[in-house]
Amino acid sequence: THFGYQQVPVGEKARRVAEVFHSVADRYDVMNDLMSFGVHRLWKRYTVNLAAVRRGERVLDLAGGTGDLAERFSHLVGPDGEVVLADINASMLRQGRARLVDAGVAGNLRFAQVNAEALPFPDNHFNLVTIAFGLRNVTDKAAALRSMYRVLKPGGRLLVLEFSKPVLPGLGKIYDAYSFTALPLMGRMVTGDAGSYRYLAESIRMHPDQQHLREMMVEAGFERSDYYNLTGGIVAVHRGYKF
Ligand code: SAM
Repeated sequence: THFGYQQVPVGEKARRVAEVFHSVADRYDVMNDLMSFGVHRLWKRYTVNLAAVRRGERVLDLAGGTGDLAERFSHLVGPDGEVVLADINASMLRQGRARLVDAGVAGNLRFAQVNAEALPFPDNHFNLVTIAFGLRNVTDKAAALRSMYRVLKPGGRLLVLEFSKPVLPGLGKIYDAYSFTALPLMGRMVTGDAGSYRYLAESIRMHPDQQHLREMMVEAGFERSDYYNLTGGIVAVHRGYKF
């Protein structure tokens, strides 16, 4: 199959998101480890386990960035399977491709520059779609969820790993203080760009909470939609099926 490239509509938010990820692409991995104290690795491992990928499956890792999830999936689906690492941002994709080719896992992996709001893949194509820390950055989230639903096969599942709303008493305040002061500071020290990490804190605060995102998934057609809180709800994994 050939997946064509497409014109990306440039709204204000989309422009900001593009700037942010062009700016941080080459330091993205080290920033993830620093900002989350390495815990993003556990969140991703949890998500991969929940995905329960089988050999031979077709997986789309959307907003895949530098490819942490795609790398695992590539091993799990094996030579008869297929993994597409898709991202809207050329700098992030370049970074991901370089890293995965070095890791020697590119055999069943393909790379595509796509907008989650209008996926250029056929209907009923993938067994699994994942989007990790990506939905937050998408302007029209409802359109993106509908698009993910469309490209899933009947029986397929969607997993959304995203920042959410802390549910432990007191955690919300500590977390707010951390994200609005420490994050921009670390951002400036490591990438020379505090603004991008201020954007990160703001986008986390604006993102729909657990219940709201669950409703949006139901709205988009997903069935048996549920979620799991991780680290006191700082992060949640949502899962839904297309039947
Ligand atoms: N999934 C990776 C991870 O968990 O480390 C990368 C997450 S990174 C925080 C968010 C990614 O979403 C960026 O690579 C960005 O380019 C991508 N992105 C933002 N808006 C997008 C859109 N509309 N369609 C596809 N990808 C998008």
